Amino acid sequence: GRGAAMVTAVAHRLAAQRQCIDATLAPFLLPLGILREVMDKMRAELEYGLKRETQANATVKMLPTYVCGTPDGTEKGKFLALDLGGTNFRVLLVKIKSGRRRSVQMYNKIFAIPLEIMQGTGEELFDHIVTCISDFLDYMGIKGARLPLGFTFSFPCKQTSLDAGILLNWTKGFKATDCEGEDVVYLLREGIKRREEFDLDVVAVVNDTVGTMMTCAYEDPNCEIGLIVGTGSNACYMEEMRNIEMVDGEQGRMCVNTEWGAFGDNGCLDDIRTIYDKAVDDFSLNAGKQRYEKMISGMYLGEIVRNILIDFTKRGFLFRGQISETLKTRHIFETKFLSQIESDRLALLQVRTILQQLGLNSTCDDSIIVKTVCGAVSRRAAQLCGAGMAAIVDKIRENRGLEHLEITVGVDGTLYKLHPHFSRIMHQTVKDLAPNCDVTFLLSEDGSGKGAALITAVGCRLREAEQN
Ligand code: BGC
Ligand code: MG
Repeated sequence: GRGAAMVTAVAHRLAAQRQCIDATLAPFLLPLGILREVMDKMRAELEYGLKRETQANATVKMLPTYVCGTPDGTEKGKFLALDLGGTNFRVLLVKIKSGRRRSVQMYNKIFAIPLEIMQGTGEELFDHIVTCISDFLDYMGIKGARLPLGFTFSFPCKQTSLDAGILLNWTKGFKATDCEGEDVVYLLREGIKRREEFDLDVVAVVNDTVGTMMTCAYEDPNCEIGLIVGTGSNACYMEEMRNIEMVDGEQGRMCVNTEWGAFGDNGCLDDIRTIYDKAVDDFSLNAGKQRYEKMISGMYLGEIVRNILIDFTKRGFLFRGQISETLKTRHIFETKFLSQIESDRLALLQVRTILQQLGLNSTCDDSIIVKTVCGAVSRRAAQLCGAGMAAIVDKIRENRGLEHLEITVGVDGTLYKLHPHFSRIMHQTVKDLAPNCDVTFLLSEDGSGKGAALITAVGCRLREAEQN
């Protein structure tokens, strides 16, 4: 009768809809062959960045860090550290003891960086940073002491020494004026001078990847790679001096900050970028830049998801075809939410509750679709990140002329830590693509601040040795 015909019609519509959804998400499924191509392209970009002839035009910049070794346990002293550029801005006091009772004690305070300061003038930004330092010194009761300071500054910096770093370009949510092209250590010292209240000895500027590597290397000497998958994404590793053509000297190794987030900025990933990736890029603060980072890291995954959901809603697959104000709001899907939605312990009803909390009125069918979209986007992110890491470990293996390499990667970042599947999929991809490398991933606790202090300790020791 008519009832049966209607049921069949609905079933047909749902099947057709399911097909459209699958077809839209298909480009997010990357077979191993494609991932291997990504790995090979990353490998080529790493080489361009290292070679004098190609460096100027390289997209993956391979920045020297002037960190030439990992900690050996003799580091000691009291240090201040700043950590700017992740989810939080922090000021830390780090006390390191050496010898048989070696240990690291840390005190820290988190400060907010309001949007208008992130995107105001450079002077305002650095004045704000110095105000936070002042607050922290009062809080700890150490304003008189002229402590050595390590500045973890998680943006691409061209370094000419341990304590000088020219900001090449802002990434993530930052956009303060008059900083690009300037030495951020100089900007910090000027900020401290303007305040005329205390004095500090800025010894090192450190990328968060390098701080993370150093922190993990303090526990595990096999750790010669640092990885961040948080708000942004990046990796560093110990490269042979002979391969770093931009720095004189052939002996030993130096840590190179790859700045792999910019991978793809020359178009080499265009064949796998979707219309959603392009939309996210176009509406970002730095359009055309950090394309790999925008497919991988926490600041952008939620935006990719949101763009797909808007498209599905327009096509009538979701939310009864109604695009709510919430869905139009940028950055609503924070890493925290994606991680919750994808948690296997959550029943669909709970997914629905989460969406409702966001102001998205969903049916059970909607919840299934939303979860499927999140899964496709985060899985691709983990695989792409794994392909990049596979390129690095295999390069290190070849550098050392080894059949087989055992190495540890120090890792930090909210996406890596919070997401229920990201780490597992990333590890598996590295295994698949670099079968001759045995890679251990070590989670860093409070990595970038502690690492900055360790690097500062080494910097102080070297400086004293020079003076004597
Ligand atoms: C920056 C890197 C940083 C990474 C992780 C990227 O946007 O360019 O310098 O290491 O984010 O924080
Ligand atoms: Mg960080």
